[in-house]
Amino acid sequence: MLKKDTAIYDVAVVGAGPAGASAARECAKAGLRTLLIDESVFPRYKLCGGGLTEAARKALGFKLDPDVIEQEVSRFRFCYMGKEFEVDGKKYAVTTVLRDKFDKFLVEKAVEEGTEFVDGVRISNVNNSGGIFTLIGGARRFFARTVIGADGVNSVISKLVRQPFKKDELALCVGVEVHKNGGGMMEPDLIEVEIGVNKFSYGWVFPKQRFFSVGYGAYLGYSDGLRNTLLDYLKRKGAKGEFNIRGHLLPIGGLARKTYSNNVILVGDAAGYVDPFQGEGMRYAITSGRIAGKVLADAFSNNDITTNGLSAYEIECYNEFGRDLKWARRLAYLTYNLFKVVYPVVESNNEIFEGYLQVLSGVKSYKEFFINTALRAPFFLMKTTLKRSNK
Ligand SMILES: Cc1cc2nc3c(=O)[nH]c(=O)nc-3n(C[C@H](O)[C@H](O)[C@H](O)COP(=O)(O)OP(=O)(O)OC[C@H]3O[C@@H](n4cnc5c(N)ncnc54)[C@H](O)[C@@H]3O)c2cc1C
Repeated sequence: MLKKDTAIYDVAVVGAGPAGASAARECAKAGLRTLLIDESVFPRYKLCGGGLTEAARKALGFKLDPDVIEQEVSRFRFCYMGKEFEVDGKKYAVTTVLRDKFDKFLVEKAVEEGTEFVDGVRISNVNNSGGIFTLIGGARRFFARTVIGADGVNSVISKLVRQPFKKDELALCVGVEVHKNGGGMMEPDLIEVEIGVNKFSYGWVFPKQRFFSVGYGAYLGYSDGLRNTLLDYLKRKGAKGEFNIRGHLLPIGGLARKTYSNNVILVGDAAGYVDPFQGEGMRYAITSGRIAGKVLADAFSNNDITTNGLSAYEIECYNEFGRDLKWARRLAYLTYNLFKVVYPVVESNNEIFEGYLQVLSGVKSYKEFFINTALRAPFFLMKTTLKRSNK
């Protein structure tokens, strides 16, 4: 027999990752009757490096519970074709988190504000009749005036707004948690990045308390054999153990996409808001989720939840980070195509990496970083040449 949840919510948020939890929290805080639904039972595993930048932490708008923090890492190593160098990021640390704990913590924050949370229910379809959405999840039905699609890269809700992502709008990531005992040469206080093995791809190691999250990502068109690339990376690191390798798609950000329609907003991965240079997604999931919640609350108070009333969402996202993701995309093309040239220049000029860390901290934008670096390129090249000739 069908179980009917007869309440009509102001908003149903589908997906309780960082985007959905952040959106739900804002909606509930603004007094909207808010439902948050996830297909998984929380806490749930989510494949992720778990690298939370300072900018992402700031975007949250509240302090992280110390229990959620795995490590704060400020040592970074870059590897390229057998060469490597290290940078001490000092005050620009990256926090590592385990997504099961982190995402549960964000959901609790949303619930504290009055969100009703239902987990273990997959929404398979949504239809609208007379201005009320019916969300179908197994034997259950939920009713809401508006929907926020926070259901990730394979979003079901997105069909109310846009076409599915095309192949050239996606990256593939493969990853594994390696127990610290089997970590080989991986170091507990160091984030490592490897570039240059395949085009438009990079590998990473993020240390956690008991694990290393190790992975490789590549733009989908360049992702053939990515699992083997990861296995080879693990072998070179001397990692030991059973490797339960999983894969996940990631949208490439910095592209113009439709992110809202009548009574519907897409946030986070569902909206395609991911940094195309380094795959950071949590910062933009949190930020877009919060913007969506605020815009929706305003739209309700202005009695206009149509496309017109929600149009501020796309504009605010563009101003807050969308324009900058376009610069990140330019940087990605330049770096991944010219890494042979870029690597020695970055190795010889610590201030380039320091500038990049300022981007991760939210102190600088990609645009500022890109332009500052380009303007000083002759100086950086000269320093590189001098350093190399002194070797
Ligand atoms: C291998 C890998 C490594 C990454 N590393 C990093 C990193 O180090 N730092 C970083 O910032 N970003 C990283 N990212 C990106 C980051 O994981 C995402 O950008 C981020 O999780 C997006 O958050 P979200 O809330 O939009 O979506 P998600 O976190 O994907 O959450 C979507 C939620 O929706 C639920 N859901 C999906 N479909 C339905 C449905 N039909 N009904 C109900 N619920 C549904 C899912 O269960 C899930 O809980 C990585 C991604 C990958 C794949």
